[in-house]
Amino acid sequence: MTDFIQRFHFSDSPVRGEVVQLADTLVAIVGRHTYPARVQALLGEAVAAAVLLASTLKFEGSLILQVRGDGPLETLMVECNNHLEVRAVAQVAEGWSDQFADMSLSALFGNGQLAITIDPEKGERYQGIVPLGESSLAACLEYYFTQSEQLPTRLWLVAGDDTAAGMLLQVLPGHDDSEDEDIWPRLQQLTDTVKADELLDLPVNELLYRLYHDEQVELHEVNDVCFRCNCSRERTESVLVSLGEAELNDILAEQGSIDITCQFCNQAYSFDAIDVAQMLRGGISEPGRLH
Ligand SMILES: [Zn+2]
Repeated sequence: MTDFIQRFHFSDSPVRGEVVQLADTLVAIVGRHTYPARVQALLGEAVAAAVLLASTLKFEGSLILQVRGDGPLETLMVECNNHLEVRAVAQVAEGWSDQFADMSLSALFGNGQLAITIDPEKGERYQGIVPLGESSLAACLEYYFTQSEQLPTRLWLVAGDDTAAGMLLQVLPGHDDSEDEDIWPRLQQLTDTVKADELLDLPVNELLYRLYHDEQVELHEVNDVCFRCNCSRERTESVLVSLGEAELNDILAEQGSIDITCQFCNQAYSFDAIDVAQMLRGGISEPGRLH
């Protein structure tokens, strides 16, 4: 199965939608780690959500969804760029036990926050923060849209075994209530009837027909989604250089080499004393730092 996102809209109305269905992408993400089932499901939902949100990026750059807290699930992070290349990781606290599996979202993350970052390659970063007070990730994101006074938006997110899927409905600007004042509540109600296996497995045209058979729906193009990690030896070097010479020499003295494993894709990078000396020289010769 090819992972994809497909846009649609309701004819003669200002409501648009998107469906995302993911399998290989999720296998690539979770297959590199051993996650408890609840964590894997949440990660799947977060990946589906990030793809739905990133698909509207109009520039080169990334959207990052990140939850950090002091509960049993410490971190959950998804990054999706405008080419719909996605990577994600979760981190559970030591001593995770299955008794955490039934915890509410806010208990799971403890004193946690959900940050949504838009990171254009050129231009300013933008970050919105929402509390994790809602019962689901979808509800937290909806709260974010409401709070940041963006367009009215609803999300439906589900995770299966190594699969995830989601839907987004959004009212576009220019909504004229007099035309069909019932359309937004009606479409939300119809979409609320969607079952997890329908969202995960049905072909999009069948899914939309099942939900909206009395509505006029127009399908747009399909875009592929895939896993990709953009880590590299060069990027790892620049992170290390930022730690400073003293810190790097301390690690070298202690461990003989500096070994970094990418948390997203498990790619290992190793730097010995010669590598470190070279990268530090490279740092010193940067423009603007020459004496
Ligand atoms: Zn990587």
